[in-house]
Amino acid sequence: MSPEVNLVAQLLSKQIEATGPISVADYMRAANSAYYAKGDVFGVDGDFITAPEISQMFGEMVGIWLADLCIRHNNPANCQYVELGPGRGSLASDALRTMQRFGITPSVHFVETSEALRSVQLAKVPAAQHYNRIEDLPDDGPLLIVANEFFDALPIKQLIATHAGWRERVLARDRSNKFLPMPGMRPMDEMVPSEFRAAPSPSIYETCPDASAIVYELAGRLAAQGGVLLVIDYGYSLPGLGSTLQAVKDHQSVNPFENPGGCDLTAHVNFLEMANLGRMRNLRVSGPIDQGSWLKALGIDVRTQTLAMASPERAEELQAMRDRLIDSAEMGHLFKVLAISAENWPVPEGFASTGLNA
Ligand code: SAH
Repeated sequence: MSPEVNLVAQLLSKQIEATGPISVADYMRAANSAYYAKGDVFGVDGDFITAPEISQMFGEMVGIWLADLCIRHNNPANCQYVELGPGRGSLASDALRTMQRFGITPSVHFVETSEALRSVQLAKVPAAQHYNRIEDLPDDGPLLIVANEFFDALPIKQLIATHAGWRERVLARDRSNKFLPMPGMRPMDEMVPSEFRAAPSPSIYETCPDASAIVYELAGRLAAQGGVLLVIDYGYSLPGLGSTLQAVKDHQSVNPFENPGGCDLTAHVNFLEMANLGRMRNLRVSGPIDQGSWLKALGIDVRTQTLAMASPERAEELQAMRDRLIDSAEMGHLFKVLAISAENWPVPEGFASTGLNA
């Protein structure tokens, strides 16, 4: 373990000693906050690679999609581009450049808690204004909100079926001073949907209260201010059982309960819950649909060809990038796209009638 990692583990250990086992959510929050505070963790030389880092075409498709919505809504004044957890800022930079070609030039607002990543983002998108919290986003004018691989980084609660009912999964320390997942004391049966209550021990059911709170707040903004929330992430359209918590370091899967702050912790996103929260605010819900289908519907193949014609020496590389983004065995199927938009805005492009709103 490196010294900085020891520090996070030590802090969490002290907390456990002082007040008892901590929840998986508290562990994940502390670990990811320390992890992203380190700065640029993305790309081939980092720990993991995201779609906008694979190819500029990803951000361009998002930009075209947003521009199309704005144009069909008669180009509303005072539009604001908002991105949640923008990483290196590549998606925003590619999307904003593309929107500009269509005459759409929104102001730019980033929700980002990592100071180190804020600097990386400003180098790419100097016009961006930064916020720690969703609540502080501007409350005048439509919001064009994009979140790629943001919600999967938020802390999840895990509930575990035991012979004594459902309990929250918590972490204690074992003899060798390792984090030890175990069932907590308090009964949690009420938190588990009725269809899963009879599941055998040790089934796991997950929730992400932070994701729900953020989506509900943003949905309220969209209802009042207009605009759209585009969520792209890996996740499920219908909730199930099982732990989806995973840790990645140097592009390898590692134990999520070792090395807090030294690896990226993620969990699958519950798209059904997001869709429901959008509907509770009387918004339009489109999707979720596979990332591959969405990108194809928006014309990524034409874009690949255009770029390849401009740089024939890159044709093979461009085709490989396109494949990575849309093939089912790569990111095309696992990643889903969900849009939640103001009811009086146009129906978003790219969503077949196969989503939850079918
Ligand atoms: N969207 C980027 C990066 C994804 S990684 C991409 O696709 O490449 C997750 C991002 O969310 C990082 O920028 C991280 O610092 C940020 N983040 C994680 N938790 C956050 C929180 N609670 N509030 C704000 N930003 C957060």
